[in-house]
Amino acid sequence: MKSLYDFNYEQIQEFALEQGWKKFRGHQIFQWLYRSRVDDIDEMSNLSKDTRDLLKQDFIISPLTLRDKQVAKDGTTKYLFALADGALIESVLMLFDYGKSVCVTSQVGCNMGCAFCASGLTKKQRNLTSGEMVAQVMYIQKELDKQGERVSHIVVMGTGEPFDNYEQVMNFLATLNHDRGLGIGARHITISTCGIVPRIYEFSKEHTQYNLAVSLHAPNDQLRNQLMPVNQAYPLDTLMQALDYYGTENNRRLTFEYILLKGVNDQPIHAKQLAKLIGKRNAYINLIPYNSVDEKGFQGVDHNSAMIFYDQLMKLGVRCTIRKEHGGDIDAACGQLRVKHLQKR
Ligand code: SAH
Repeated sequence: MKSLYDFNYEQIQEFALEQGWKKFRGHQIFQWLYRSRVDDIDEMSNLSKDTRDLLKQDFIISPLTLRDKQVAKDGTTKYLFALADGALIESVLMLFDYGKSVCVTSQVGCNMGCAFCASGLTKKQRNLTSGEMVAQVMYIQKELDKQGERVSHIVVMGTGEPFDNYEQVMNFLATLNHDRGLGIGARHITISTCGIVPRIYEFSKEHTQYNLAVSLHAPNDQLRNQLMPVNQAYPLDTLMQALDYYGTENNRRLTFEYILLKGVNDQPIHAKQLAKLIGKRNAYINLIPYNSVDEKGFQGVDHNSAMIFYDQLMKLGVRCTIRKEHGGDIDAACGQLRVKHLQKR
């Protein structure tokens, strides 16, 4: 069965017209989904019973069921959902002083094969549909509704490579961003990619105002090839060229993500190479503490070493931040809760 969350605002109106209904029906259904946030088609009380029955024949609202939930001391909440076909995915709610952010999963498993990442422990089984991504946020929004709170930010940084599922991800974000959907501001939405160059060009041309984050993790091709196989297809000069194109098309500051891995990419030489690579670009580096993954054999650095690397970069004129750790006491690393459940099976 399809989920009603698969339709964006324009698509649901087209759907209504195809059914021989007024376009306004589509608008009403959208209101029920995103304003009233109903869980059941029968709650759509301004639709006739016949219309509701017709909808129920082919559609459900949410394609997710909750399987596990962990709440950390800092309020970070991790959700494990089962999809209709039994696949398991994770979403995370993070609390910041500027708002509440949901980290969304875009694929079941991942094919990018980054050496340090738990997500790639299971290969990609399939792309998520737009509705399956919308449903992650709606589930959490409905929980927050009980406290009169709202999801204000979205990061597409869960399991999966969003630019390997481009259309569905863009469709999902269109629904959340739409003022008749959840109305989450484009500037509060961030897509993180490992660097799929053709999609960076495509994305640049859409001028969405969404933030773009690029997982860099290494300042030279030799090391990046080892850590991130995607670099063999799209090496650093090709990637940087695409990002410069993004910069000319979109006057937005780029984020580079850089996990500090002990003894691997955290030496003074790496800071120097990074500074040279980034140069005068409108960008900053987000230094990320590593959530260790037992199977991977990498270690993170302590806070002191992270500060030293940070200072080196700042002295070289590179803007950077150190990402605060969230949910350190739960299985918050990308894909860890899911992997634990898969191992239990
Ligand atoms: N595929 C996309 C988005 C998902 S990963 C990408 O590569 O950007 C989101 C971010 O988490 C990436 O920067 C990724 O490299 C990072 N990451 C993966 N495993 C991690 C770990 N164990 N600890 C900290 N960050 C991790």
